[in-house]
Amino acid sequence: MTHTAEIISVGTELLLGNIANTDARDISQMLSELGINVYYHTVVGDNPERLKAAVAVAKTRADILITTGGLGPTCDDLTKQTLAEAFGKKLIFDEREAREIRDYFANRLHSHQMTDNNYQQALLPEGCTVFHNDCGTAPGCAFEADGVRVLMLPGPPRECVPMFRACAMPYLRKLSDLELRSHNIHIFGLGESFVEDKLRETMLRLQNPTLAPYAKSGEVRLRVTARARTDEEAERLMAPVIAEVREKIGSCIYGIDTDTLENTVFQLLKEKNVTLAAAESCTGGLVSKRMTDLPGASEVYLGGAVTYAPASKTALLGVPADMIEHDGVVSPSVAEAMAQGVRARFESDLGIGITGIAGPGTDELGTPVGTVFVSLATHRAAYTRHLHLGHDRDRVRTAAANHALDMVRRFLTGLDVESWES
Ligand code: ATP
Ligand code: MG
Repeated sequence: MTHTAEIISVGTELLLGNIANTDARDISQMLSELGINVYYHTVVGDNPERLKAAVAVAKTRADILITTGGLGPTCDDLTKQTLAEAFGKKLIFDEREAREIRDYFANRLHSHQMTDNNYQQALLPEGCTVFHNDCGTAPGCAFEADGVRVLMLPGPPRECVPMFRACAMPYLRKLSDLELRSHNIHIFGLGESFVEDKLRETMLRLQNPTLAPYAKSGEVRLRVTARARTDEEAERLMAPVIAEVREKIGSCIYGIDTDTLENTVFQLLKEKNVTLAAAESCTGGLVSKRMTDLPGASEVYLGGAVTYAPASKTALLGVPADMIEHDGVVSPSVAEAMAQGVRARFESDLGIGITGIAGPGTDELGTPVGTVFVSLATHRAAYTRHLHLGHDRDRVRTAAANHALDMVRRFLTGLDVESWES
């Protein structure tokens, strides 16, 4: 059986726009990890009548109600009382929690200045599961009544989120004998809308597993998620979907459950025993940075040169000065000469050359901002991509480095190096 949760965030400050409802956002993400549907987020002020009304509606459309906020000791903290009343539960004084609150005051706050209303936090609905608060005083709790589960969590995110992870997730996991498994398919070279377009029919048709896209720093990822009793069953359900995605997206998939493009490149270089070096201009060493983020990369990544000024390209890489003069520093011939130059200097099997205009200003020839040439040189040939990467300086640099890595990946897997889809 699949479950549906509704998050009811309590707090007038949320309605006034004084704070953003990050608790609901974070809880929703964690619920999706559990495979629990969320169809509504409700926000209600510190008002018992309106909270009761919100609970009455939520009960009709969800079987898990999760409240945040209003568990503290002050007079506007009314969530527990209101929910207990709404579900006909008595509040009982929990000795153990009272002791914990006392200890928290003594040990963490170095104070014995507890007032009676602090003890109110130890009042909990009869028969509930207590969620102990490691980061504050107000405990959370969960109980079952009227066919729904009610979970109450404190408002401050530094209490709410760890409590949800440590207590609510294990509690909710027990409600289902189905576990959730997923695989992330990493794609480079295709836009999110293109991927969605190619796979729309599949995504709409699928229920278990599900297939959903999400964009991440210039790449697209697809997540395949299956609900199943065992790992094997989940894998069996996901395999045909992954095969279908491979068939439709093909060579733009650079990995499954791999973390980054550079990691894929690193693994391939090691596997094939191939070495790499990079000459970078507009990316300022980003390819080197990303490759050297990987421990052990020196086995295959020999080094790089940041040759930002035209004269450095000549001095360090041997790019002919008259080529720069004649073709312009942002040109395919210079990218290729940089790639060949760095390959020769580092004595690597492969060399990357990147030259482009990251913006915001252009060069003296008026080359459009976002124009980048990326070359990959081997001992036999050089491949070059002519790119238009937009106007945002950071995005141009990230995308240029991504393209360079993607070219290495495509070369090492025997694919056409110069082509990409978008
Ligand atoms: P406390 O013991 O601090 O009173 P509480 O459980 O009673 O905790 P609230 O009084 O409702 O929680 O909120 C305390 C603070 O927590 C708010 O002022 C706000 O800064 C933060 N907070 C509350 N709800 C949310 C939310 N949904 N998202 C993000 N922050 C929140
Ligand atoms: Mg409060």
